[in-house]
Amino acid sequence: MLPFLRSDLAQLAAYKPHPGGVGAEAPATVDRLDTNESPYDLPAELKQKLAWHYQHSLESNRYPDGSHAALKEAIATYANESAHTDWVQPEHISIGNGSDELIRALLIATCLGGEGSILVANPTFSMYAITANTLGIPVVAVGRDEATFAIDCTAAQAAIADTDAQPIRVVFVVHPNSPTANALTEAEIDWLRQIPDHILVVIDEAYFEFSQTSLLPELPQHPNWVILRTFSKAFRLASHRVGYGLAHPGVAAALEKVRLPYNLPAMTQTAARLTLQHRAELLPIIDTIRQEREKLGDRLRSFPALQVWPSDANFFFMRLDPTVLSADLDPDKALDHLFNRLKQEGTLIRKTSGGLRITVGTPEENQRTGDRAQALLRKLGSAAQKG
Ligand SMILES: *Cc1c(COP(=O)(O)O)cnc(C)c1O
Repeated sequence: MLPFLRSDLAQLAAYKPHPGGVGAEAPATVDRLDTNESPYDLPAELKQKLAWHYQHSLESNRYPDGSHAALKEAIATYANESAHTDWVQPEHISIGNGSDELIRALLIATCLGGEGSILVANPTFSMYAITANTLGIPVVAVGRDEATFAIDCTAAQAAIADTDAQPIRVVFVVHPNSPTANALTEAEIDWLRQIPDHILVVIDEAYFEFSQTSLLPELPQHPNWVILRTFSKAFRLASHRVGYGLAHPGVAAALEKVRLPYNLPAMTQTAARLTLQHRAELLPIIDTIRQEREKLGDRLRSFPALQVWPSDANFFFMRLDPTVLSADLDPDKALDHLFNRLKQEGTLIRKTSGGLRITVGTPEENQRTGDRAQALLRKLGSAAQKG
């Protein structure tokens, strides 16, 4: 341990985008179904437009617009259109270098310096706890219903009421959740609605475009809510790193205070504005992805050894059904085996929370992955396809 480092840093690990690695043994063509991006790159005409901006209007020697003024205007228009609202203005918006950066800004603005802890319901997006840990912020974790993955609101309520511990300042939920793909239920939303004003509620809508369900219309009634969205998924800009938060002006102003002055590179701002300008051409492919989701879901569900949960997003969560595996197979080892063999054959998925998360890819990727999984599951001792 280096003598000048914070003592708690030794326990932390750097984030690994592909846990287990893409691996030298992986074939040249890899179906990357592990990080929930859109399988579709930007159309060539849009890339040409971006290149044109780089050549003719970008001043490489100048700092980018640190106020994000034009991009905020465009996001406000899109946010209103997306949730059928009319009140979103630039003052309700803060933009981050990916919504990951906004998660960190939220933690800095709320809990840093021993002022409080955060609450998460596992399994959920790992960045909340990872980022809190790097800032020395305690994480309180409650569970979810094993069958539906609904949040254990009773346990969450008890954690909030616990006055012995560091008070909970922020509750993080994902709508729909990752890795389990379920949108918040009306009962969960009711629970969020009654969380007192001194606790910030972060509703991460990274997959909003796939679920088409948003809590944005209710934001005016809740000065303690923040909605996070991203350009990394439906808008096909994961490489450019841009996410945004929607909140009451006071909360947005706090986020603006703690972010770095030039956090969004000029090309990133240009790319985000361009995709918003062209959203009428870019977003219809969401319908295709949703149709592919249904097809992939049907295929995965046809394998008796897999338990596949419904999805409101662009990915599925599944576990091996131990009752269907041969008795001599250890379910954890079988899961590892399936994950590793898929990787060797060219499909990268995510192993997490005692299960597997798979992104909906292109029709070809989904077909190949279905075929590979079918052959592997058959070898794992499961019977042939149902029906
Ligand atoms: C992918 C994802 C994000 C997006 O993160 P960026 O930093 O904007 O790329 C945020 N939240 C959740 C739950 C995600 O799955």
